[in-house]
Amino acid sequence: MTEKTDCIVIGAGVVGLAIARQFAMAGRDVIILEAENSYGSHTSSRNSGCIHAGINYPPGSLKARLNMRGKELLYRYCPEHGVGHKMIGKLVAIVDEEKIPQLHALKEKSASIGLDEMYFMTGAEARALEPNLHCVAALHSPTSGIVDQPELMTAYLGDAEDHGAVLALGAPVLSGRATDSGVTLTVGGAGAMEIACNLCINAAGHGATKIAGLIDGVPKETVPEMILARGCYFVLPSKKPFTRMIYPLPDEHEVAMHISPDMGGMVRFGPDTEFVDAVDYTVNPDRAPFFYEAARRFWPDIRDGDLEPGYAGVRPKLSRARAGDNDFVIHGAETHGLPNLVNLFGIESPGLTSSMAIAEYVAALVEEGNR
Ligand SMILES: Cc1cc2nc3c(=O)[nH]c(=O)nc-3n(C[C@H](O)[C@H](O)[C@H](O)COP(=O)(O)OP(=O)(O)OC[C@H]3O[C@@H](n4cnc5c(N)ncnc54)[C@H](O)[C@@H]3O)c2cc1C
Repeated sequence: MTEKTDCIVIGAGVVGLAIARQFAMAGRDVIILEAENSYGSHTSSRNSGCIHAGINYPPGSLKARLNMRGKELLYRYCPEHGVGHKMIGKLVAIVDEEKIPQLHALKEKSASIGLDEMYFMTGAEARALEPNLHCVAALHSPTSGIVDQPELMTAYLGDAEDHGAVLALGAPVLSGRATDSGVTLTVGGAGAMEIACNLCINAAGHGATKIAGLIDGVPKETVPEMILARGCYFVLPSKKPFTRMIYPLPDEHEVAMHISPDMGGMVRFGPDTEFVDAVDYTVNPDRAPFFYEAARRFWPDIRDGDLEPGYAGVRPKLSRARAGDNDFVIHGAETHGLPNLVNLFGIESPGLTSSMAIAEYVAALVEEGNR
């Protein structure tokens, strides 16, 4: 027998939960289908937890627009819902005088997308804020921050459930078929069944391209190939050299990396980038020499033995380009011709920051597709 519901969201990561919240609060009956036995256990809890200001994305891109809007919504939502967050600020630092024009160019680019608050600092000014920082100059982004990802997801889910949404765990979507009037999904797990809905949102992160490819009716040419890029973190359990995030210039990620305190103040180094064939969260301790070398650019006083292997996340990318040059891909009827299906592909950084704005965007896309 086929069950019926109004709206299904596939995937209970931060994006799927934000979308479920959006539709439930708009009065729709929502079921969230999650393959794992807990929500948010993949990319949404394996990232830097940074509320990005939006510096890195090309003006006009979906990432730039949704990052800016998402940041605004998050900074409003978190205090209202008791979600841990801090606007700690970020320093984009350089160690080479020749890079000063690039720092000025980044400031100008930021201003062009409305980030007027960025300001240029000499090395001495930056050290007045962060005494352990080695740099010749820096760009200060005061509105960058950090958020407690599990608390954020619990709050989204709570809002969705308060408006009638139901989360089904251990419910992997195996395949489906889409028509003009809705989508029918085959769901595995203990309660295996067929379930039909008027609206289906595929927010399955690493699983999104596979699911889209297995839904009959979705034109194959609209389903991109996904490329997985693991990002590992090493952590510094015993010292707290920085209170703000320290970032390299966007094009220096081969030799440098982010340094970011988490909500508890513990400092993380990473993520690096390693292309992988499957989702695998192993942190290879042999990567330590690269992490030390990159960390020493900004913090020469780090000692061998200070760092410990931390955790890893895997970016669901659509090309090998860096996150700044790879846009989000969100397909509604205008792309695949199906008004009752939205596919979200390549939701890498800044998906956490943008989550509520992505939800708004998806809702608008659905409305547009049904006009
Ligand atoms: C290393 C790293 C650092 C990052 N740092 C930041 C940052 O600092 N700031 C920022 O804004 N963004 C950051 N991001 C990006 C951000 O984490 C992601 O954009 C965001 O978490 C994506 O959320 P999601 O819900 O789309 O995916 P996920 O969290 O992966 O959720 C997808 C869910 O779908 C489920 N699923 C998969 N297949 C199926 C199926 N067949 N049936 C049912 N369920 C299924 C999965 O189990 C999973 O729970 C980072 C990402 C990485 C990898």
